[in-house]
Amino acid sequence: MMPTPSPLRRWTVALIALCILCTLLGGLMLTAAQEVTPTPAIPADATPTITPVPRPLPVSTQVVEAATVEFFFAEIPQGGTGLFYVNAANLQGVQAVFLDHTSELWSAGNDGFYGFLSASMEQTPRQYDLDLLLWYADGTRQSIQLPVTVSLGQFLRQDVNITGDKAYLVDPTIERAELARLDGVFAPFTLEHFWDEQGFDLPIPGGELTSAFGAFRTFNGSMQSRHTGWDLKASLGQPILAAADGKVAFTGTLEIRGGFVAVDHGYGVYSTYSHFQQVHVTQGQSIVQGQVLGTVGATGRTSGPHFHWEIAVNGVFVDAAQFLNLWKP
Ligand SMILES: [Zn+2]
Repeated sequence: MMPTPSPLRRWTVALIALCILCTLLGGLMLTAAQEVTPTPAIPADATPTITPVPRPLPVSTQVVEAATVEFFFAEIPQGGTGLFYVNAANLQGVQAVFLDHTSELWSAGNDGFYGFLSASMEQTPRQYDLDLLLWYADGTRQSIQLPVTVSLGQFLRQDVNITGDKAYLVDPTIERAELARLDGVFAPFTLEHFWDEQGFDLPIPGGELTSAFGAFRTFNGSMQSRHTGWDLKASLGQPILAAADGKVAFTGTLEIRGGFVAVDHGYGVYSTYSHFQQVHVTQGQSIVQGQVLGTVGATGRTSGPHFHWEIAVNGVFVDAAQFLNLWKP
Protein backbone atom coordinates (compact mmCIF):
# COMPACT_ATOMS: atom_id res chain seq x y z
CA MET A 1 0.00 0.00 0.00
CA MET A 2 1.45 3.35 -1.02
CA PRO A 3 1.16 6.01 1.68
CA THR A 4 -0.37 9.24 0.50
CA PRO A 5 1.69 12.44 0.84
CA SER A 6 0.91 13.92 4.20
CA PRO A 7 1.69 16.97 6.31
CA LEU A 8 4.37 14.74 7.90
CA ARG A 9 6.11 14.50 4.54
CA ARG A 10 5.93 18.23 3.96
CA TRP A 11 7.47 19.22 7.23
CA THR A 12 10.05 16.46 7.13
CA VAL A 13 11.21 17.75 3.76
CA ALA A 14 11.42 21.17 5.34
CA LEU A 15 13.45 19.68 8.17
CA ILE A 16 15.95 18.18 5.75
CA ALA A 17 16.53 21.64 4.33
CA LEU A 18 16.91 23.01 7.82
CA CYS A 19 19.38 20.29 8.80
CA ILE A 20 21.53 21.08 5.74
CA LEU A 21 21.31 24.80 6.52
CA CYS A 22 22.25 24.03 10.11
CA THR A 23 25.35 22.14 8.97
CA LEU A 24 26.35 24.92 6.60
CA LEU A 25 25.99 27.56 9.25
CA GLY A 26 28.22 25.58 11.55
CA GLY A 27 25.68 25.21 14.27
CA LEU A 28 24.01 28.61 14.27
CA MET A 29 20.69 26.77 14.43
CA LEU A 30 21.61 24.99 17.64
CA THR A 31 19.82 25.89 20.79
CA ALA A 32 21.45 28.90 22.28
CA ALA A 33 20.59 27.58 25.68
CA GLN A 34 22.92 24.63 25.24
CA GLU A 35 25.75 26.68 23.77
CA VAL A 36 26.62 23.83 21.49
CA THR A 37 29.31 24.32 18.86
CA PRO A 38 29.73 21.45 16.40
CA THR A 39 33.24 21.00 15.02
CA PRO A 40 33.92 19.82 12.44
CA ALA A 41 30.77 19.78 10.36
CA ILE A 42 29.55 16.36 9.32
CA PRO A 43 29.65 15.64 5.59
CA ALA A 44 26.55 16.83 3.74
CA ASP A 45 25.65 13.27 2.76
CA ALA A 46 25.61 12.27 6.42
CA THR A 47 22.79 14.69 7.17
CA PRO A 48 19.84 12.54 8.19
CA THR A 49 16.95 12.46 5.83
CA ILE A 50 13.50 11.97 7.30
CA THR A 51 11.53 11.08 4.25
CA PRO A 52 8.78 8.50 4.68
CA VAL A 53 9.31 5.69 2.20
CA PRO A 54 6.94 3.10 0.71
CA ARG A 55 7.46 -0.59 1.40
CA PRO A 56 10.99 -1.22 0.21
CA LEU A 57 12.33 -4.20 -1.66
CA PRO A 58 14.66 -6.31 0.46
CA VAL A 59 18.34 -5.53 0.04
CA SER A 60 19.28 -9.18 0.43
CA THR A 61 17.43 -12.48 0.74
CA GLN A 62 18.68 -15.70 2.35
CA VAL A 63 16.90 -19.02 1.90
CA VAL A 64 17.64 -21.58 4.60
CA GLU A 65 15.75 -24.86 4.10
CA ALA A 66 12.05 -23.96 4.21
CA ALA A 67 12.61 -20.43 5.54
CA THR A 68 13.25 -17.17 3.71
CA VAL A 69 14.92 -14.27 5.49
CA GLU A 70 14.78 -10.82 3.89
CA PHE A 71 16.96 -7.95 5.08
CA PHE A 72 15.83 -4.40 4.32
CA PHE A 73 19.31 -3.02 4.97
CA ALA A 74 22.86 -3.75 3.84
CA GLU A 75 24.52 -2.84 7.14
CA ILE A 76 23.41 -1.35 10.43
CA PRO A 77 25.38 1.80 11.24
CA GLN A 78 26.36 2.47 14.85
CA GLY A 79 23.22 3.85 16.49
CA GLY A 80 21.08 2.54 13.65
CA THR A 81 18.05 0.29 13.23
CA GLY A 82 17.35 -2.26 10.51
CA LEU A 83 14.21 -4.15 9.54
CA PHE A 84 14.09 -7.80 8.53
CA TYR A 85 11.42 -10.35 7.65
CA VAL A 86 11.17 -14.11 8.09
CA ASN A 87 8.72 -16.24 6.16
CA ALA A 88 8.04 -20.00 5.97
CA ALA A 89 5.00 -22.23 5.53
CA ASN A 90 3.20 -22.82 8.85
CA LEU A 91 5.63 -20.60 10.74
CA GLN A 92 4.25 -19.79 14.22
CA GLY A 93 6.90 -17.47 15.64
CA VAL A 94 10.48 -16.23 15.48
CA GLN A 95 12.93 -15.24 18.19
CA ALA A 96 16.09 -13.28 17.35
CA VAL A 97 19.31 -12.91 19.33
CA PHE A 98 21.63 -10.15 18.14
CA LEU A 99 24.37 -8.39 20.08
CA ASP A 100 23.35 -10.27 23.24
CA HIS A 101 19.80 -8.97 23.06
CA THR A 102 16.82 -11.29 22.64
CA SER A 103 13.77 -10.07 20.79
CA GLU A 104 10.69 -11.55 19.22
CA LEU A 105 9.28 -10.77 15.80
CA TRP A 106 5.73 -9.58 15.17
CA SER A 107 3.32 -11.36 12.85
CA ALA A 108 2.66 -9.91 9.42
CA GLY A 109 0.11 -12.62 8.63
CA ASN A 110 0.67 -15.15 5.81
CA ASP A 111 3.28 -17.06 7.85
CA GLY A 112 5.55 -13.97 7.90
CA PHE A 113 7.16 -12.07 10.78
CA TYR A 114 8.97 -8.72 10.96
CA GLY A 115 11.63 -7.62 13.43
CA PHE A 116 14.04 -4.80 14.17
CA LEU A 117 17.76 -5.13 14.74
CA SER A 118 19.66 -2.29 16.36
CA ALA A 119 23.24 -1.41 17.25
CA SER A 120 24.33 1.02 19.93
CA MET A 121 26.30 4.10 18.91
CA GLU A 122 29.35 2.53 20.57
CA GLN A 123 29.10 -0.94 19.04
CA THR A 124 32.42 -1.96 17.46
CA PRO A 125 31.97 -1.95 13.69
CA ARG A 126 32.37 -5.51 12.35
CA GLN A 127 30.34 -8.57 11.41
CA TYR A 128 28.16 -10.25 14.06
CA ASP A 129 25.96 -13.35 14.20
CA LEU A 130 22.21 -13.04 14.06
CA ASP A 131 20.72 -16.15 15.67
CA LEU A 132 17.13 -16.94 14.77
CA LEU A 133 14.90 -19.57 16.32
CA LEU A 134 11.82 -20.43 14.28
CA TRP A 135 8.96 -22.55 15.52
CA TYR A 136 6.33 -24.24 13.38
CA ALA A 137 2.73 -25.37 13.70
CA ASP A 138 3.74 -29.04 13.88
CA GLY A 139 5.97 -28.37 16.90
CA THR A 140 9.27 -28.51 15.03
CA ARG A 141 11.95 -25.85 15.46
CA GLN A 142 14.66 -24.48 13.22
CA SER A 143 17.81 -22.57 14.11
CA ILE A 144 19.35 -20.17 11.61
CA GLN A 145 22.56 -18.17 11.95
CA LEU A 146 23.26 -15.33 9.53
CA PRO A 147 25.93 -12.60 9.46
CA VAL A 148 24.93 -8.97 10.03
CA THR A 149 27.45 -6.15 9.75
CA VAL A 150 27.57 -3.10 11.99
CA SER A 151 29.25 -0.20 10.20
CA LEU A 152 30.90 2.97 11.44
CA GLY A 153 28.51 5.83 12.24
CA GLN A 154 29.21 9.49 11.58
CA PHE A 155 28.81 11.76 14.55
CA LEU A 156 29.49 15.38 15.42
CA ARG A 157 31.79 16.67 18.10
CA GLN A 158 30.30 19.33 20.37
CA ASP A 159 31.36 21.41 23.31
CA VAL A 160 28.63 22.03 25.85
CA ASN A 161 28.78 24.38 28.82
CA ILE A 162 26.50 23.98 31.82
CA THR A 163 27.08 26.62 34.42
CA GLY A 164 25.53 27.92 37.62
CA ASP A 165 23.45 25.75 39.91
CA LYS A 166 23.26 22.92 37.37
CA ALA A 167 27.02 22.55 36.89
CA TYR A 168 27.07 19.71 39.42
CA LEU A 169 25.13 17.60 36.88
CA VAL A 170 28.26 17.46 34.71
CA ASP A 171 29.26 14.31 36.54
CA PRO A 172 29.90 10.91 34.92
CA THR A 173 28.63 9.13 38.05
CA ILE A 174 25.23 10.83 37.80
CA GLU A 175 25.09 10.10 34.09
CA ARG A 176 25.99 6.41 34.49
CA ALA A 177 23.38 5.97 37.22
CA GLU A 178 20.69 7.54 35.06
CA LEU A 179 21.58 5.39 32.05
CA ALA A 180 21.46 2.29 34.25
CA ARG A 181 18.00 3.30 35.43
CA LEU A 182 16.88 3.73 31.84
CA ASP A 183 18.21 0.24 31.00
CA GLY A 184 15.62 -0.99 33.48
CA VAL A 185 12.87 1.11 31.89
CA PHE A 186 13.65 -0.33 28.43
CA ALA A 187 14.07 -3.93 29.65
CA PRO A 188 10.46 -5.18 29.31
CA PHE A 189 9.81 -6.58 25.85
CA THR A 190 6.10 -6.11 25.21
CA LEU A 191 4.51 -8.55 22.76
CA GLU A 192 2.04 -5.97 21.52
CA HIS A 193 2.34 -3.90 18.37
CA PHE A 194 1.04 -0.42 19.22
CA TRP A 195 2.15 1.68 16.26
CA ASP A 196 0.20 1.65 13.00
CA GLU A 197 0.84 2.38 9.33
CA GLN A 198 0.97 6.12 10.15
CA GLY A 199 4.39 5.41 11.64
CA PHE A 200 5.99 7.77 14.13
CA ASP A 201 5.75 11.57 14.18
CA LEU A 202 8.05 14.20 15.63
CA PRO A 203 6.75 15.08 19.12
CA ILE A 204 6.78 18.76 18.16
CA PRO A 205 5.05 19.18 14.81
CA GLY A 206 7.27 21.12 12.47
CA GLY A 207 9.97 21.15 15.13
CA GLU A 208 13.50 21.83 13.97
CA LEU A 209 16.03 19.15 14.78
CA THR A 210 18.86 21.15 16.29
CA SER A 211 21.44 19.01 18.06
CA ALA A 212 22.29 15.65 16.53
CA PHE A 213 22.06 12.13 17.90
CA GLY A 214 25.27 10.42 18.91
CA ALA A 215 27.45 13.54 19.10
CA PHE A 216 30.69 13.20 21.03
CA ARG A 217 30.20 15.86 23.68
CA THR A 218 32.66 17.53 25.95
CA PHE A 219 30.95 19.16 28.91
CA ASN A 220 32.58 22.20 30.50
CA GLY A 221 35.85 21.44 28.74
CA SER A 222 36.47 18.05 30.33
CA MET A 223 33.68 15.49 30.80
CA GLN A 224 33.21 13.22 27.79
CA SER A 225 29.72 12.06 26.94
CA ARG A 226 27.51 11.02 24.03
CA HIS A 227 24.26 12.63 22.96
CA THR A 228 21.65 9.88 23.28
CA GLY A 229 18.89 11.63 21.35
CA TRP A 230 18.01 14.57 19.13
CA ASP A 231 17.24 18.05 20.39
CA LEU A 232 14.32 19.95 18.92
CA LYS A 233 13.90 23.68 19.04
CA ALA A 234 11.05 24.43 21.43
CA SER A 235 9.68 27.19 23.58
CA LEU A 236 8.64 27.03 27.20
CA GLY A 237 5.17 25.58 27.71
CA GLN A 238 4.81 24.23 24.17
CA PRO A 239 2.93 20.88 24.09
CA ILE A 240 4.90 17.71 23.48
CA LEU A 241 3.00 15.01 21.60
CA ALA A 242 3.32 11.23 21.66
CA ALA A 243 5.24 10.03 18.61
CA ALA A 244 2.98 6.99 18.18
CA ASP A 245 0.45 4.90 20.07
CA GLY A 246 1.78 3.11 23.12
CA LYS A 247 1.73 2.72 26.86
CA VAL A 248 3.48 5.02 29.31
CA ALA A 249 6.35 2.95 30.71
CA PHE A 250 7.75 5.55 33.10
CA THR A 251 7.20 9.08 34.31
CA GLY A 252 9.31 10.88 36.84
CA THR A 253 12.05 13.40 37.38
CA LEU A 254 15.57 12.39 36.43
CA GLU A 255 18.64 14.46 37.27
CA ILE A 256 19.88 14.91 33.70
CA ARG A 257 16.67 14.49 31.71
CA GLY A 258 14.53 16.40 34.18
CA GLY A 259 10.78 15.89 33.85
CA PHE A 260 10.70 12.68 31.86
CA VAL A 261 8.28 10.34 30.08
CA ALA A 262 9.09 6.99 28.42
CA VAL A 263 6.54 5.34 26.13
CA ASP A 264 6.56 1.64 25.24
CA HIS A 265 5.45 1.13 21.62
CA GLY A 266 5.84 -2.63 21.79
CA TYR A 267 8.28 -5.16 20.32
CA GLY A 268 11.29 -3.45 21.86
CA VAL A 269 10.58 0.12 20.67
CA TYR A 270 10.50 2.96 23.21
CA SER A 271 10.40 6.72 22.82
CA THR A 272 11.40 9.15 25.55
CA TYR A 273 10.69 12.82 26.17
CA SER A 274 12.82 14.99 28.45
CA HIS A 275 13.09 18.35 30.23
CA PHE A 276 9.31 18.66 30.76
CA GLN A 277 7.88 21.63 32.59
CA GLN A 278 4.68 19.68 33.29
CA VAL A 279 3.82 16.02 32.65
CA HIS A 280 0.20 15.19 31.80
CA VAL A 281 0.33 11.37 31.74
CA THR A 282 0.87 8.65 34.31
CA GLN A 283 2.72 5.36 34.27
CA GLY A 284 0.72 2.49 32.75
CA GLN A 285 -1.60 4.81 30.83
CA SER A 286 -2.43 3.91 27.24
CA ILE A 287 -1.83 6.80 24.88
CA VAL A 288 -2.46 7.54 21.23
CA GLN A 289 -0.28 9.20 18.61
CA GLY A 290 -0.42 12.98 18.96
CA GLN A 291 -1.68 12.92 22.56
CA VAL A 292 -0.19 15.70 24.70
CA LEU A 293 2.30 14.15 27.12
CA GLY A 294 3.25 17.42 28.77
CA THR A 295 4.89 20.75 28.10
CA VAL A 296 8.38 21.92 27.20
CA GLY A 297 10.49 22.98 30.14
CA ALA A 298 14.08 23.51 31.20
CA THR A 299 14.30 20.84 33.91
CA GLY A 300 17.38 18.63 34.26
CA ARG A 301 20.81 19.26 32.73
CA THR A 302 19.96 22.21 30.51
CA SER A 303 20.38 25.92 30.88
CA GLY A 304 17.29 26.78 28.86
CA PRO A 305 14.06 25.41 27.44
CA HIS A 306 14.48 22.82 24.73
CA PHE A 307 13.22 19.35 23.96
CA HIS A 308 15.37 16.21 23.97
CA TRP A 309 13.89 13.23 22.13
CA GLU A 310 15.14 9.66 22.25
CA ILE A 311 14.21 6.39 20.57
CA ALA A 312 15.44 3.11 22.02
CA VAL A 313 15.16 -0.15 20.07
CA ASN A 314 16.01 -3.47 21.68
CA GLY A 315 17.58 -1.79 24.69
CA VAL A 316 19.87 0.74 22.98
CA PHE A 317 19.44 4.37 21.97
CA VAL A 318 19.16 4.74 18.21
CA ASP A 319 19.07 7.65 15.80
CA ALA A 320 15.44 8.85 15.92
CA ALA A 321 15.79 10.55 12.53
CA GLN A 322 16.91 7.30 10.90
CA PHE A 323 14.16 5.43 12.75
CA LEU A 324 11.51 7.87 11.46
CA ASN A 325 12.76 7.21 7.96
CA LEU A 326 12.39 3.44 8.25
CA TRP A 327 9.45 1.70 6.75
CA LYS A 328 7.72 0.26 9.84
CA PRO A 329 5.10 -2.42 9.17
ZN1 LIG B 1 19.59 16.48 23.94
